[in-house]
Amino acid sequence: METNIPLADLDKPAVQRMNDVIKTCVHCGFCLPTCPTYLETGSELDSPRGRIYLMKGVLENTLTMDDEVAQHIDACLGCLACVTACPSGVQYNELIDNFRPKLEAEYARTPLDRFSRWMLSEVLPYRERFRLAVLLGTLGKPFAGLMPKPLKAMLSLLPTKGLPKREDFGEVIPAQGTRRARVALLIGCVQTVLAPEINAATIRVLTRNGVEVVIPRDQGCCGALTLHMGQREDGKQFARRLMQAFPTDVDAVITNAAGCGSALKDYAHLFENEPDAQAAHDFSARAQDVSQFLADLGLAEQPTGLGRSLRIAYHDACHLGHAQGVRSQPRQLLMSIPNVEVVEVPEAEICCGSAGVYNITQLEMANDLLARKVNNIGLTKTDGVVAGNIGCLTQIQRGIKSKGMWAVHTMQLLDWAYSGKFPL
Ligand code: SF4
Ligand code: SF4
Repeated sequence: METNIPLADLDKPAVQRMNDVIKTCVHCGFCLPTCPTYLETGSELDSPRGRIYLMKGVLENTLTMDDEVAQHIDACLGCLACVTACPSGVQYNELIDNFRPKLEAEYARTPLDRFSRWMLSEVLPYRERFRLAVLLGTLGKPFAGLMPKPLKAMLSLLPTKGLPKREDFGEVIPAQGTRRARVALLIGCVQTVLAPEINAATIRVLTRNGVEVVIPRDQGCCGALTLHMGQREDGKQFARRLMQAFPTDVDAVITNAAGCGSALKDYAHLFENEPDAQAAHDFSARAQDVSQFLADLGLAEQPTGLGRSLRIAYHDACHLGHAQGVRSQPRQLLMSIPNVEVVEVPEAEICCGSAGVYNITQLEMANDLLARKVNNIGLTKTDGVVAGNIGCLTQIQRGIKSKGMWAVHTMQLLDWAYSGKFPL
C-alpha cells in the first residue's frame, strides 16, 4: 500500500520514517489483545491498528485533526505493548513519537486542557518548582473536592506521609573496596522529590558492589515528560542540557526510573540527522537501567536476606520491559535474595495506567487500568510489589494501600537485603 505523506510541519526524515513504519503494518490485529485501551473499550480506534489508521489518514489528508483523532491518540499510553506483540516488527513508538508533536501543533485543545498541560510541563521537570507544588498540594488536599479534575488527579498521587527530606548525595560517591566500574547516575526530577530514598538505595547498592557513582550537579530533566506530551522541541532542549552535564569518562549512564531510561536510550533517534547525532548516539549507547548494569556486572557480594521470607509480585514497568527489553535482570537480582519468592503477575504486559502524565491527563482510563492491575496483583497472594519505575510505584501504591500491601523499587529491596532487615 502506497502512502503519500505531505511534509506539513514535520521534518523530511521524520515523515519518511513514519511512511516506512506505516507500510510495515499488515493489519493482522495480533497487537489488539495486548493493547490496554482496546481491552478496556473494545473500540478498534483505541487499538494500535486503529491508531495507525488514524495517523495515516491525517498524514494523507483524508482525515482532519479533529476531536475524534485527538481523543484516540491522547488515550494511547505509549506503553509499547503493541511493539512487543507485533510479528511484523512495526515500530509504533516512532509513529506516536512523531505524531504527538503534530497533534500539539494542529489540534485546538480546550482552555482547561491547555492549562493543565502547560502546568505539567512548567512544573514537573523542575525539581524546585515541583517540590513547592507538592508542598502546596499537600496543604490543599482538604480542598481537593473543589478543584478541577486534573488538579484532583495530581493530589491523589502525592505522598500521604508529608514532604520527603531533601537529599544531597554529593558529587562523587566512591566505590567500597576495589573499584570495578565508574558510572554517572540520573537522579530524576519527580523521583528526587517524591522518593529520594530510591536514589539513596541505588547508590548504596552500587557502591557496595564496587561501583563509583558520579552525580552531575547540573543535570535537569531528561525530557521524557515533555516528549510524552508532544512538546518535542522542549524535550530536545532538556536532552541537550542533560548530555552536556554528564561526563563521558564513565562505563555507563545509569537510570533507576524506566521512563527516563527509555528516553535516554531514545536520544539517538531524537537527534537523528542533526549536528548532535553522534553525541546522542554515544549517550544512548552508554545509558542502562541500574538492574541491567548490575546484573551484567555481577554482584560482588551476595545479599544476606531480609530477616524474614517474602513473596513478592514483580511488576514489569512498560518502559523497562516493552521499551528497553529489560525483564530477566531485575528478576535475577531479586531472586538472589535468600527466602524471597518472585511471583509473576497475570497480564504482566498490560500497563498499570501510570504512563508519564497519563494518570493526570486521562484519569478515568488510568483508574480503570489501575483497578485491573490491582485485581491481577491480588491473584498473586503476595506481600508486596517490586518495580523499577517511580511512576508505576506511585500509581500501584495508590491502588494496593488499602489491601495492606506495599510497593517498592528493586534497589530498595536489594539494599534492605544487604542490611539484613526488612523495615516495612
Ligand atoms: S501493528 Fe503489527 S500486530 Fe498490529 S495490526 Fe499492524 S502488523 Fe499486526
Ligand atoms: S502504545 Fe500501548 S496504548 Fe498505545 S497503541 Fe500501543 S499497546 Fe495500545
